[in-house]
Amino acid sequence: MEELFSIHYAEVGLKGKNRVFFEKRLANNIKLALRGTGYAEVERLHDRILVHLEQHADIAEIKERLRQVMGIAHFELACRTKTDIAAIKDAALRQIQNVSCESLKVETRRSDKTFPLTSPEVSAEVGGYLIKETGVRADMHNPDVVCWVKITQKAAYISTEKIQGIGGLPVGVSGKVLVMLSGGIDSPVAAWQMIKRGAKAVFIHFYSYPYTDKASLEKVIEIAQILAVSNYRSTVYLVPFADLQQTIVASTPAPFRVLLYRRMMTRIAERVAAMVDAEALVTGESLAQVASQTLTNLRTIEAIAEIPILRPLIGEDKAEIITKAQRIGTFDVSTRPHQDCCSLFIPKHPATGASLIELDNAESGLDIDVLVADALNNLEKQVVD
Ligand code: ATP
Ligand code: MG
Repeated sequence: MEELFSIHYAEVGLKGKNRVFFEKRLANNIKLALRGTGYAEVERLHDRILVHLEQHADIAEIKERLRQVMGIAHFELACRTKTDIAAIKDAALRQIQNVSCESLKVETRRSDKTFPLTSPEVSAEVGGYLIKETGVRADMHNPDVVCWVKITQKAAYISTEKIQGIGGLPVGVSGKVLVMLSGGIDSPVAAWQMIKRGAKAVFIHFYSYPYTDKASLEKVIEIAQILAVSNYRSTVYLVPFADLQQTIVASTPAPFRVLLYRRMMTRIAERVAAMVDAEALVTGESLAQVASQTLTNLRTIEAIAEIPILRPLIGEDKAEIITKAQRIGTFDVSTRPHQDCCSLFIPKHPATGASLIELDNAESGLDIDVLVADALNNLEKQVVD
């Protein structure tokens, strides 16, 4: 008999090679997530992943961490034993003795149809035994505890709790994206949603120091660390943006500045994406949330990029985004004050609907290739865990 974690994922659409790829990635991510908790080994079976434990493994901590691993549908701490009814009864008794309850129900599933008893027969036999041994009563409708028995060809698993996982897909199975992280509330949530769909996030941040303080840099690193709980080892690219902003301010009309900043950021990010093999940019934009995020303006930003720009929050209200940020744990860092580089040298009334032609004209005095190359030369890289 062995106590271990048994992990299940949603299998919809997973076949053949895809499935092996998915499972390997999930198993690997589980190892990354459980570093330092006292797990012994992560084993892939054909229908589940097992986490074997050292004697002094931190069970509570492992549960907490597994709750955050993308791609897990549900998991349980289970007793694994022989596919033998006496061994199953024994394991079930040990499990029930570990929880306090006044009523119980046994639920059995067999994937091994050669097991001599049917599922209802196993439930009846194990249930009868537990009731006799513990004095707990049976309740088929509203039991305090359900004792789950799963009989497979090689082993039986007995558990008394099913813990809901976060769902989504294992990080890494959907490729890589470059997330434009500002230090505000929205972009970390956008990143998290992409990570949840299996994309590995790399981050890029533009800062205006020395015209602003260094707060945004510190915030972005902290946010990347929080997101690393599900994204694991994460790379953050930091781009000094102040000189470029000065150039824009010196040679373009004031109402277009935010959009011109955004277009330059996007051009630089596109180049960094190519460097790191990211297949899309991700932003925290939400339709019409601020002047630069009207459809017209999003289109003028989009026009200069070839790479897809994904905006997972486009249809979400600020209140919804805040709730998510609180759940993910980035809200408190995001709401600490910082000087946003995009509000530097900005007029009171930025353009809400600049046309493509107006922006192209505004940029006509800029040597864009040189500006982009300069920014790339001054790129700094930081890795967080
Ligand atoms: P956030 O809460 O993410 O800052 P926001 O609602 O404040 O978003 P804006 O400041 O208009 O929106 O920025 C829109 C998006 O552009 C951000 O979500 C982010 O993806 C990107 N962005 C803005 N400023 C920066 C920056 N300094 N570095 C990197 N990306 C940025
Ligand atoms: Mg912002």
